[in-house]
Amino acid sequence: MPYPNSQKYFEEAGKFIPGGVNSPARAFKGVGGTPLFMKKAEGAFMYDEDGNELIDYIGSWGPMILGHAFPAVVEAVRNAALGSTSFGTPTVIENRMAELVCSLVPGLDKIRMTNSGTEATMSTIRVARGYTGRDKVIKFEGCYHGHGDAFLIKAGSGALTLGQPSSPGVTAGTAKDTLTADYNSIDSVRKLLEENRDEVAAIILEPVAGNMGCVPPKKGFLEGLRKLCDEHGVLLIFDEVMCGFRVAPGGATERYGVQPDLMAFGKVIGAGMPVGAFGGSDEVMSVVSPNGPVYQAGTLSGNPVAMSAGLALLGELKKNPHIYDDLEAQSAKLENGMLEVFEKHGITVANNRVGSMLGFFFCEGPVESFADVSRTDTKFFSRFFHSMLAEGVYLPPSAFEAWFVSHKHDDAVIQRTIDAADKALASMNKTGETR
Ligand SMILES: *Cc1c(COP(=O)(O)O)cnc(C)c1O
Repeated sequence: MPYPNSQKYFEEAGKFIPGGVNSPARAFKGVGGTPLFMKKAEGAFMYDEDGNELIDYIGSWGPMILGHAFPAVVEAVRNAALGSTSFGTPTVIENRMAELVCSLVPGLDKIRMTNSGTEATMSTIRVARGYTGRDKVIKFEGCYHGHGDAFLIKAGSGALTLGQPSSPGVTAGTAKDTLTADYNSIDSVRKLLEENRDEVAAIILEPVAGNMGCVPPKKGFLEGLRKLCDEHGVLLIFDEVMCGFRVAPGGATERYGVQPDLMAFGKVIGAGMPVGAFGGSDEVMSVVSPNGPVYQAGTLSGNPVAMSAGLALLGELKKNPHIYDDLEAQSAKLENGMLEVFEKHGITVANNRVGSMLGFFFCEGPVESFADVSRTDTKFFSRFFHSMLAEGVYLPPSAFEAWFVSHKHDDAVIQRTIDAADKALASMNKTGETR
């Protein structure tokens, strides 16, 4: 599959856009080569600027749960735009959207819209600090919460030391308020809470981690966090930006039956438009301005075009709960088919799956934490990625990203993917690339 146009456009992009991309995850840094420029997409397929047809497993990194250009979403966007793209005043569509989201997610009384997942998670932290009067936050290694300063912190050697900024531009002052624990380790959290008694405002996590491949919470992990939070007067924040409306209509909160105090949303909620949201109980959200003292705002928050798109998509999901059974079944077929092909070609692989989020790791399992994820053979993944691309399958361009299945990934699409993997691995075998 040749990509001369993408190559040309990428060179052009580099003249005006840092690294040629508006978000680093698109740049193929993890796998090498030139990122493809997409022209359009429909259902399970994307079409690049060279006319190549690709089966899509990123789904815009999550939102395309019903496939690209879903007719009801396209129609809603068209109609909303005809009535103006923004007012800067309240609109009824915002009421309908808030009402629908609160009806889907357990324990969600009040919700505030933002323009991105990053804004949503940043706001949850500010609310938690305002509500508790404490400064520190515990996050987990391998969880991604957007690019807010408080989240760009890595633990030093050993996950339990004081935070170090993992990006220049994040101050030491910010870093000292972010503590990092090990995913799926209650002990690592308990230790931090004991060392920082009465100082921790919140524990934030992806209840299903999707930014280190797919890593589900172990049995008892979420329950254990809930208990520790209650004991220490700490708020529990679920970052549902990726898993919200994906692993169940009410996200991980519904799927695992553990109630967080605050939740952040993004991705699916906007059906591909720039939308995020955060919310929680009446009690906790009462501190948010203009009712309370915690300031949070957005000129374009609750934008009518974006809300219309989200409302159309979430409306479909609510009306047709069988979609989640279908996603489960199709994703299981993909998972099983891929595992068979990997086995046939003698590839060591571990995998996790929660609904339509999948993670394959090229190492021995189980994979339950960032330390486990780090053992995956990234060089092998890069070669596999490019071989799959050559066979017409677009995987996430990083060994550390989850694969997403949409409702348009039917049997034929899944089979085509499995056959592509078989061919890709066969050709890699021939050239010794699987070793
Ligand atoms: C994508 C993501 C974010 C950031 O959302 P943006 O819309 O990219 O700002 C935050 N948290 C999680 C879990 C995400 O997957």
